[in-house]
Formats: sequence, structure tokens, C-alpha cells
Amino acid sequence: MKHLLSIDEYVEGILNKDISVLARAITLVESSKAEHQEISKQIIEKILPHSGKSVRLGITGVPGVGKSTFIEIFGQILVQKNHKVAVLAVDPSSTLSKGSILGDKTRMEKLSIDDHVFIRPSPSSGSLGGVARKTRETILLCEAAGFDYIIIETVGVGQSETEVHQLTDFFLLLMLAGAGDELQGIKRGIMEMADGIAITKCDGNNLDKAKIARAEYANAIHLFPPTESGWIPEVKTCSSTENKGIEEVYNMIEKYIRHTESKKFFHKKRQAQTVFWFESLVQEKIRNYFFSDDKFLQRYNDAKNSVSKNETSILNAVNLVFDKPSF
Ligand code: GDP
Repeated sequence: MKHLLSIDEYVEGILNKDISVLARAITLVESSKAEHQEISKQIIEKILPHSGKSVRLGITGVPGVGKSTFIEIFGQILVQKNHKVAVLAVDPSSTLSKGSILGDKTRMEKLSIDDHVFIRPSPSSGSLGGVARKTRETILLCEAAGFDYIIIETVGVGQSETEVHQLTDFFLLLMLAGAGDELQGIKRGIMEMADGIAITKCDGNNLDKAKIARAEYANAIHLFPPTESGWIPEVKTCSSTENKGIEEVYNMIEKYIRHTESKKFFHKKRQAQTVFWFESLVQEKIRNYFFSDDKFLQRYNDAKNSVSKNETSILNAVNLVFDKPSF
């Protein structure tokens, strides 16, 4: 890492839209060193009043569904509409797989060289919650640097979607038109979180299949409980290679924003998300407080051992861990 700047230099650089300073501040956010965390905390505190003015769009879907090809085209449409776009990745599995999902910049050739676009791969390590928290702070920094459309990409294979849902205003699920059992590929929970679905690769031989899938998903969505904002998720078809239907996805998101703003839901949802992250950080602190205490750890492990051998009930074991004068 290059030498550190002063807090004010970071803050000024970010507010002056200096991308290299922004990138260096994000590196601090991602660092696990206590010193870096302290600095990044102070930077965030100062840029906070300048954050928030963006559309935060989550895009998820299984590997191969066409996320990066979609973002490449979608991002260019956003730039044409005078948006400044940041693309961030949340990929907690990247330490296990070959690398970050956005590590290979050639995946978005045109976007990655566009001056109005900032592409940042996922932090390369850390727990799921940790990666999502860092992404949340990165969003704030990007907003303060003038990016007004933030795309957060995740691989739609599991738990990370729940976290990313708590980071975004609109959650877009990309789906492939399968043969037949369309609804089985992706977990129902993820579908229920989606504000919109786009069936990708609606071109060539896939055209008819995609249209059938669209109708099936639209039907399935109507069976879900109504959303708090009253918004009914929409299902679109698109082809990134033929640049068809992508603008419709943009329009759907715009419509959603108008809908939720008119109902004051947009702001309410962001407030609830901030509270969610506050609560989860407090819980993390509490966990760390206990688990960094050797005496507690000893009791915890002893109790766990007893439970596993059926020597005591779970309830009693929990009491054994906590019912000591020092706690
Ligand atoms: P990701 O893993 O979700 O990011 O998927 P990619 O964007 O890397 O796409 C996976 C494969 O699908 C690549 O070979 C793309 O060329 C192809 N692909 C992506 N979008 C489309 C599309 O709209 N139509 C067709 N026919 N192929 C596509």
C-alpha cells in the first residue's frame, strides 16, 4: 500500500472526484488492519453528509446467466443518460474459487475504460457479513465521489443475496430460460426478494423459451405475498448481445423509484437498511467481545463438549456458559 494520506486529504480527494484517492480509501475500508479501519471510519464519518444520492442496484444470478455481459451494456446506457456508474462485486466465495468475479476486467471491456465508470472487484477475503459491510462503506465513498448509479453484483447462489438486498434500492434477478422446470433453478427466497426479473439471452433459438419463461415467472410472482411498498415485481426479457430489452429494464427501475418515492417508501427502506447494519454490527461486537475472552471460550467449549456427548441439555449448557459472576 502507498503511504497514507491525512484524513482531510482523503476526504477532499473523494469530494473532488479524484478516482485514485477514492480507490485508496476503498483499500483502507477493505483492510483488516486496526490502523486502517480507524482511518476509514473517520473518512466515512466525514463524507457521510455527501453520500446517499444514488440509485443502488443489486444484480444477481447464477454464474453464466450473463451478468457481466448485461452490466457491460446496461452501464453504457446509464452513461448515455449522464449517469456516473460504479460497479462493485460481492463475492464471498472468491477466496475459494479462482478469484474475484470481477477480477478479470476484460469481462467488461468497454465499461472498464469509460471515464464515467468505476469498477471495483470484491474484497478478496473475509466473512460474508464482513464483505457486505465493506461493500456498504464502499457505496458511501463512491456516492461522495459523485457516482449516482451504483451496481452491486453478486453470484446468485445463496446467502449473499440476503445481505446485498440490505444494501440496495432495487434488486434485479437475472434468470435463464431453462427447459421446463424454470422455477427450480434459483431459490424461492431469492425470487421473493427480487423487485424485478430479467430473463437473459432472449435471442436466437432461445427466443420462444425466454418468452414462455417470462409468462411463467410473471404468474409465479403474483402468488407471492404483496410487497410493503405495493410494488408488483415485473418480469422482462432481454438480450445483451443484441442489445434488446435492456432499456426496458432501465425503465422498470425508474418506474420503481418513482413509485416508491411517491409512497415515501424509498427513504423508509434506506433508513431500515441503515438500522439493519447498525444492529448487525452491534451483534458482531458482542460476539467478538465474548469470544476474545479466554475464560469465556473455555466455558463455551466445555459446554459444547458436554452437549455433544448428551451429558447435559442444551438449555443447561447455555446457562453453564453464562451464569458465572464474571459475566
Ligand atoms: P456471468 O457469469 O453471469 O457474468 O455471465 P457472462 O456475462 O460471463 O455470460 C456467460 C456467457 O453467456 C458468455 O459466453 C456470454 O457471451 C453469453 N451471453 C451473455 N449474454 C448473452 C445474451 O444476451 N445472448 C446470448 N446468446 N449469449 C449471452
